[in-house]
Amino acid sequence: MIFDIMTLFPDLVEYVLGESIIGRAQKSGAIEIATYQIRDYSEDKHRRVDDTPYGGGKGMLMMAPPISRCYDAICEKRAEQNLKKKVIFMSPSGTLLTQKKAEELATYDQVVILCGHYEGVDRRIIDEIVDEEISIGDYVLTGGEIPACILVDSVARLCDGVLADPECYEQESISSGLVEYPQYTRPYEFHGVKVPDVLISGHHENIDRWRKEQAMALTLKNRPDILEKFGKE
Ligand code: SAM
Repeated sequence: MIFDIMTLFPDLVEYVLGESIIGRAQKSGAIEIATYQIRDYSEDKHRRVDDTPYGGGKGMLMMAPPISRCYDAICEKRAEQNLKKKVIFMSPSGTLLTQKKAEELATYDQVVILCGHYEGVDRRIIDEIVDEEISIGDYVLTGGEIPACILVDSVARLCDGVLADPECYEQESISSGLVEYPQYTRPYEFHGVKVPDVLISGHHENIDRWRKEQAMALTLKNRPDILEKFGKE
């Protein structure tokens, strides 16, 4: 799977996605992540990419032409590959990123992501190239780079060859319809608290039942909203 990311801060994106599992997945070729500096596509002698909004208002907006040229360069680069593509704009006014949305995006061959900055982006380029606006939550950040990294991480770990064992995510919080049950590792006793007896009983049926009960209880406490949906989808 290919992620093409248009941004004013490629170093930030590359640094975050270059570490750990996602970094290794790039090295192994399971996924490809390419960043594009939008400023490189400015025709202004000072490489300007932003301007004041028409009609007034605070802050600066990213201009359409450099983004358009950047997008055209990506399309040209990938033209021969015949990829199933989706273009996303990271935006606080988009639909919320959920595990279900990550699973849907993982069915594409190529996800192109536009990261906004400043007060946002000229609407005309969004209308022209973007298939979907996605938000990572109901709060406003300074730029789309961290949201893009979150989206890429959530999608990439669903791609073949990224996680050692796909069961890892099938049993995880949200994927299973509940949050994850509590987990323990060595030492057996920590600050006076022992690992629950059932987990060292070796009785797999009891362990499964205990985990399900714990997951239910934790979901009820922390995320009653998803418990309502459990079993309905
Ligand atoms: N003026 C915009 C508004 O009110 O919707 C906010 C712009 S924000 C300061 C700059 C950029 O950060 C956005 O264009 C978007 O790319 C990104 N961004 C901020 N919050 C985000 C969120 N919750 N999810 C996704 N992207 C976000």
